[in-house]
Parts: sequence; structure tokens; C-alpha cells
Amino acid sequence: MAKRDYYTVLGVNRDATEEDIKKSYRKLAMKFHPDRNPDDKGSEEKFKEAKEAYEILSDAKKRAAYDQFGHAGVDPSAGFGAGAGARGFGGGPEGFGGFADAFGDIFGEIFGAQRGGRGGSGVYRGADLRYNLELSLEDAARGTEAKIRVPTMEGCETCKGTGAKPGTSAKTCASCNGRGEVRVSQGFFSIQQACPTCHGTGKVIPEPCTACHGAGRIKKHKTLSVKIPAGVDQDDRIRLTGEGEAGMNGGPAGDLYVVVSLRPHAVFQREGADLHCEMPIGFCTAALGGEIEIPTLDGHAKIKIPPETQTGQVFRLRSKGIRPVRGSVTGDLYCHVAVETPVKLTSRQRELLREFEAINEKDPGAHNPRAKSWMDKVKDFFGP
Ligand SMILES: [Zn+2]
Ligand SMILES: [Zn+2]
Repeated sequence: MAKRDYYTVLGVNRDATEEDIKKSYRKLAMKFHPDRNPDDKGSEEKFKEAKEAYEILSDAKKRAAYDQFGHAGVDPSAGFGAGAGARGFGGGPEGFGGFADAFGDIFGEIFGAQRGGRGGSGVYRGADLRYNLELSLEDAARGTEAKIRVPTMEGCETCKGTGAKPGTSAKTCASCNGRGEVRVSQGFFSIQQACPTCHGTGKVIPEPCTACHGAGRIKKHKTLSVKIPAGVDQDDRIRLTGEGEAGMNGGPAGDLYVVVSLRPHAVFQREGADLHCEMPIGFCTAALGGEIEIPTLDGHAKIKIPPETQTGQVFRLRSKGIRPVRGSVTGDLYCHVAVETPVKLTSRQRELLREFEAINEKDPGAHNPRAKSWMDKVKDFFGP
């Protein structure tokens, strides 16, 4: 029988990304997986076909050969991937053992993470939770202990998480015989879907627990104390294992991720381990030089301003930054000079400045070299 085009098999365009191909394959694999379609030759064929297409298109080299030469470029008999996978399918369900190993990554994700085991047992791992923790720059730099209150679903104590009224118990779902899935015919096709009676859990609860209405879990709040290590930065995550939502039917709890976000600081901007700040100085200090005191995270520091300091000049104070969580080198503090033009001048100040300007204008090239050279360029531009 002629082989179908691999792209058609996976239902993707020829320019599909690796991610598209993987996604599409997962979908098909979920649908036609032999564990879900026992004794269904049609599904088995579809599954084998999708798997072969995926094996080729997920490998850049093989995909290129296929794009150029078609099936001939990747003929299995010519020696590509003659692994256990291709042979394992012949003999019925038990033949599929090898494929779980070969595709451990994909099926680990599908059957492991989402379902917590095969067979519709209804055992789910609880969801991971995220908590955004706002910290001041100082707390992030020094480390702190934060108390956080998080909403969470916890196992119901009344029914011990079973969802059934104490003294009663859940029963196997009659619609799906506990498989959690039913086959639905849609014209020519027959597809698997979650059982509508038990919502995929494989069980029904005749007498639900009154405390949790059969969910087995109850929404609660809990307060946790979180140790924030010194040096954490924006978007750093602290994982609290098992502090997420409770699992379902005995599944493990999810994790809680505390995600750091830094409040804007009045003086400093943080860039990794370094701190930056703007340092406005008066124009007399800028011209004559002087000393100014600036704040640091652990107190104060003095900066000597040399005469003739300009806007944009940067002074670095070593090790006055932050010591990051990972890494042992403390960052620096960079002070960016901004010379401030004085405002609200008194008549006396204006008088002095005019006097100053009169002297200045005798030799502008000496006193304001940048302004002078810029004016010269402008003159050249407009012509003599
Ligand atoms: Zn309950
Ligand atoms: Zn069911």
C-alpha cells in the first residue's frame, strides 16, 4: 500500500515548527494509543503511521532528506531507525511494551503528569500554585522572612478526600466500567472521550460527602512562612514542595511557586547584582568640585566630585551593590551625574551670572569647548 505523506499524516504544513509537529503527534498518539483502543486494528495502524511520520519529521536530518526525496529518502529498509519500535507492533497489545521506553518523554508527559497513572483511576496530582510576592529592594538584598496567605484546595477531612459520605464509598462507574473513557461513533470514525457520567474518574459517588459536595477537596486559606534568601531578584522563583493544591483521590499535592517581584525604589534601580542611581549636582559643585554624601543599601558613602564634572559622568562604588543568590561577587553601585541648572534665580544671582558670562564669552572655546565645537559644526552645515 502506498504511504501517505508524513505531513498529511500529522496534519501539519510543510513549514511546521518542531513544536507544531510534536503537538500534532501527541494529539494523534493520545487518540490512537493502543492502550486506549484495545483490539482495534484501525487505530493501531493510524498509531503506527503517526509514529513513523513523527520519527522522521522530528529529526532535522531525516526531515530534510524526506523533504528532498520523499519516502525514498527515508526508507526504513535503507537502515534508518530500525529500532525496537517499528518491530514491536506486530503482535498485538503486548508488543507495545517497547514503545513506552522509546517514547518515554512524550508518554511520560501525557500519561504520567496529567493522569498520574494509566487506566482512569482518577488519581490526580494537585495543581501547582503561583504566589506573587512583592519585596522592597532592601528586603530582596538582605533576605527576609515573608508571611504569605494562599488560597488552596485541601483534602476534605470529613471524607478523607474520597468525596463519599462517611460510611459509604464510591462505586465503579457503570457507563465506562471504571475505565473513565467511552468510545463515541462519529460517522466513519470512532473516538475516545472522557466518560460523561464519571467525568473520567471511573467512579461515581452515590452519596456525596456533605462537607465537600463530593469533590473530596475544600477551598481553604493557609498562611505560610517563606524564607527569602538574600540577593533574590525580579522573577526569581522559590519552590515550596507539596504546598500547592491537594491531589485528588490520594494523588500527591502540587507545589507552590513564590515568584519575586521588586517594588520600584525611590533612589536605586537594580540591574542584576549592580545598582544604579541618578546623582543630581548643582552646577557650581560640578564646575568647582566638591564632596557629596550618597545613600547606599547599608548606610552612606561619600563621593569626591572632581572639578569640571559633566552630566553623564559615572562614579562607581565597588561592592556597594547586591550579592546575588547565585554567585559570590557583590555588585557595584553606579552613580550617574546629572548637572542641574539652577532655577528661581534672585536678581543678585542673575547679576553674577551675567558678569560670569561676560568673561566666559571672551574665550568660549576654552570654557565651553563642547558648545563651541557644536556651534562650529552648525555653521559649517549652513555654509559661510
Ligand atoms: Zn468530603
Ligand atoms: Zn464513567
